[in-house]
Amino acid sequence: HPVIQILSANKIFPNGTQALDAVDLNVQQGEFLSLIGPSGCGKSTLLKMIANLIEPTDGRILWWNGGPERIGSAGSRLAFVFQDPTLMPWARVDANVRLALDLERKGADKSDVAARIHAALDQVGLAKFARSYPRELSGGMRMRVSIARALIDQPDLLLMDEPFGALDEFTRNKLDLDLVRLSWERRLTTLFVTHSIYEAVFLSTRIIVMAANPGRIHSELVIDEPQPRD
Ligand code: ADP
Ligand code: ADP
Repeated sequence: HPVIQILSANKIFPNGTQALDAVDLNVQQGEFLSLIGPSGCGKSTLLKMIANLIEPTDGRILWWNGGPERIGSAGSRLAFVFQDPTLMPWARVDANVRLALDLERKGADKSDVAARIHAALDQVGLAKFARSYPRELSGGMRMRVSIARALIDQPDLLLMDEPFGALDEFTRNKLDLDLVRLSWERRLTTLFVTHSIYEAVFLSTRIIVMAANPGRIHSELVIDEPQPRD
């Protein structure tokens, strides 16, 4: 079974704009899927629909538990990284990462929580900056904090909407390498929106090419099969 099945999803916004037309898409466990296409072809709308931030006008989104069972949605097993790292400016780096932890688990064990925050920051090379404030970090470092925050609750699905769009090319290339490493280690199912064909080819197991007016899937390119877990 795929983990997500999108069945002829349409989206018409209240102002009449048709953002998506009859989109069918299956997402398999462990895929790194890039969505590319011109501005306005519905990439963000599709991602937000999967994140349950936008309802489809028609069509269905089905979720599977990785096996044969249907589930309601990914819920807290889903993490979303936006282009803007959206860190809380008044909170230190470790507190920003802590925000993403499930409240019940937060209460569980303080030293465990601290260890997990440290591990998450260490993974993105920022363990030394746990006590810094966001303003003391570069744009690339802030994006890495944002990725650490997305990964700390061990999501089953990672959604990223042009995460590196605002960064210079050098920083972007470094983060691409980090993302490949994290993705390979975790075999994390990822949907990644980008304008960069280079980035899509470099990072993805499969590329979905979208077209505009109305937004739809034009074609797909399989780069590599997703690696099985263990
Ligand atoms: P992309 O991410 O590929 O640039 P979007 O998903 O942001 O495309 O937008 C797809 C289309 O839907 C565009 O024409 C955009 O202007 C329109 N759109 C997006 N959000 C809204 C909204 N809230 N209300 C009306 N139109 C919208
Ligand atoms: P990135 O953080 O992605 O490297 P930049 O290249 O803009 O973004 O980094 C700006 C500055 O921050 C550089 O001087 C870089 O050496 C420093 N820097 C970035 N990451 C670290 C790190 N993990 N440890 C120490 N300094 C860092």
